[in-house]
Amino acid sequence: MFAKEKVDQIVDSYTDFSIATICSHSALQIFNGAKHYGIKTIGICTEASRELYESFPYAKPDEFIMVDDYSALPVDELLEKQAILIPHGSLVEYAGEQINSIALPIFGNRGSLLYERNRDKMFNWMKKSGLKCPKILKPKEINGPAIVKFPGAKGGKGYLVVHNPDEYYSKVGEEAKTMIQEFIVGIRAYVHYFHSFDGDAGYQTSYGRVEMMGIDRRMESNADEIARQLSVGANIPISFTVMGNENLVLRESLLPQYMEMARGVCNTSKDLFGGIHGPFCIETIITEDLDIYSFEISARIVAGTNLLESPYSFYTHGKDYTTGMRIAEELKEAFKKKKLKEIVY
Ligand code: ATP
Repeated sequence: MFAKEKVDQIVDSYTDFSIATICSHSALQIFNGAKHYGIKTIGICTEASRELYESFPYAKPDEFIMVDDYSALPVDELLEKQAILIPHGSLVEYAGEQINSIALPIFGNRGSLLYERNRDKMFNWMKKSGLKCPKILKPKEINGPAIVKFPGAKGGKGYLVVHNPDEYYSKVGEEAKTMIQEFIVGIRAYVHYFHSFDGDAGYQTSYGRVEMMGIDRRMESNADEIARQLSVGANIPISFTVMGNENLVLRESLLPQYMEMARGVCNTSKDLFGGIHGPFCIETIITEDLDIYSFEISARIVAGTNLLESPYSFYTHGKDYTTGMRIAEELKEAFKKKKLKEIVY
């Protein structure tokens, strides 16, 4: 793990800062948000992606650093440009375990990624935060629909649903390292939050405030097109590969619970690994009895925030406001107040 003290030394030496990220996932939103606040942007990009990221004048980075692939980041060049790296799903995926050793300031807390990458730790964190979670089953305990998750977050790709131990062993085998969860039936809601070191909106936490930014529902193939499948008589196994996202609002009476859940997650994260800073998402399913089950926390910006026009961020900021803008605003404020060290690692 790259030492926090070294990150602090780097940040202390910055006379200004720029925002850098890999050209993928939510990069357009991140660049657009930074431009809004006059912050210089750097896109770490492959030749194959460059044309796309040049094609949106209001979301194109000011500068590209070209790489052959995303597994090795141009650290020296980024340091020279006084960059703060914004982690998103693709960056976490490409960097893998190595994200811990990146010798650059990363917005947020790289300590959270250890929890994000390990499902047992993640469930421990969620339960300590007071969240209700799906039951985790051993193969022989499967008695009804259960979802089987393989290691590594792959946007749901490759997950299976099984109904009994025999089906599990025949489809998965004895050796595979999986997490089996009871399959919760209900409405999925992926709720986006932002923890700020000195915001004045949202709910108070033990080290700042947490505000709700928006909510999405993922479009997952072919789970979300089952009716069409059935109508043409196709019998294809259910799959959960994420293809996109759509906006969602919740019944207002559910919001207090969701805000308390976020507060619990922030406070517990402070105790477990020094806190969440910036965007995060709690992935949930609401049953017909209005029980909220949480099955994952993403401790960084999620792709569902790429949707504009959330009423919740409108109510907080009085205008359409993206998570990309919120990141830029937070970093600018922290730089001005010499508090960057509190929100990068
Ligand atoms: P990512 O890290 O991109 O969020 P992932 O690969 O970690 O994805 P999950 O988010 O855990 O995968 O799950 C993928 C999808 O599977 C969810 O979006 C949801 O539709 C479905 N799912 C996950 N857990 C459950 C559950 N316990 N019951 C019902 N559906 C579930």
